[in-house]
Amino acid sequence: MKMRRVGPVEYDIIRLCMVINIWWVGLKLYKNPFTSLKVVRKLIRNFEEMIGNDKFVRAFKVDGKYNWDMFNPAWPSKGFDSFFKTHLLEVKPVTGEEQLLRRLLIAITKRCPLQCEHCSEADTLYQSDVLSYDELAQKIDGFVEKGVGQLVYSGGEPLSRYSDLIKLIKRYNKQCDQWIYTSAYGLTKEKAQQLKEAGLNGAAISLDHHLEEKHNSFRGNKNSFKWIMKGIKHLQNAGILVSINVCPTREYIEIKGPEEMIELARNKNIPIVNFLEPRAVGNYEGKEVELNDQEKSHLLELSKKYNFNKKYVEYPTVLFPAGYRKTLPCGGGRSYLLLDYDGTLYPCPFCKTKLPSVPKQNTESLCAAS
Ligand code: SF4
Repeated sequence: MKMRRVGPVEYDIIRLCMVINIWWVGLKLYKNPFTSLKVVRKLIRNFEEMIGNDKFVRAFKVDGKYNWDMFNPAWPSKGFDSFFKTHLLEVKPVTGEEQLLRRLLIAITKRCPLQCEHCSEADTLYQSDVLSYDELAQKIDGFVEKGVGQLVYSGGEPLSRYSDLIKLIKRYNKQCDQWIYTSAYGLTKEKAQQLKEAGLNGAAISLDHHLEEKHNSFRGNKNSFKWIMKGIKHLQNAGILVSINVCPTREYIEIKGPEEMIELARNKNIPIVNFLEPRAVGNYEGKEVELNDQEKSHLLELSKKYNFNKKYVEYPTVLFPAGYRKTLPCGGGRSYLLLDYDGTLYPCPFCKTKLPSVPKQNTESLCAAS
């Protein structure tokens, strides 16, 4: 089924249903309706404080489920319940209830057809897969059993390990919300349909410039832009939610590239644009690539303009997580982790501090950038 845009009125009703659902999860957890209500209200207050007491003007409906961004599982779903159970436990822990993770990023392979200017994985890229499918699944099973709500498959390029990717998505179809981070390499109509049938919820496609030549040069492959444009169509036709992941360089912000990218997304009916700040790691290590306060504020203002103003309801939702770093510390190592291709756990793809193989309950962010 294709995606449908949900406007502010319908979204208000759905939001209320989601809150009641979260309260219900809390009731089962705390065994007390008033405690659950108190914790849910605190959770909502925290979220409102973070976004400045504004309200998102749109959501997106796919297969009877509602999504408002790419970082929260679709509602209603088992993944949504698990994700918010962990959220509630972060606000008010319960003795004997382990609070582990909301999201797990899994680098299933280091194979990749690209050579991106900003790649954070450059040191380990193009190496052979280390873990077999069974070993990978066994590691992920441990997290899913403990209630992780969202799985994000990345790489390298996750589509380079296609049959194992399909098997993993099928395996966790009933329990988790599942996304891929991809370059759309080899993403045919048939594959998009197979990914949908396996249970994939969303695909975040990396697109770093609205101009074909510039994007291909950034990604080190002359076919990259074409794959993306075809891949987006196939995913949309298959009924998979699409987001564009953009790494906005300082030069790109200066030429008003993010504004062009938002227009491109609108014209192609892409629901979400996610700006990921460039970080001085991997290929960018030692380079002056990090955004200054003014550039970050600009992206944050763009995000607020398109997300909270009814005038722009026909536009995509624009995300810039780094813009909220002051009010919400990075969740790396706390609410999400990266499981790397060899089984090593890291706080996130950018902070490569090795963690114990079985992470303990943790309320502190391990992100160096927080
Ligand atoms: S950034 Fe991603 S797509 Fe680009 S080379 Fe690195 S792993 Fe491959």
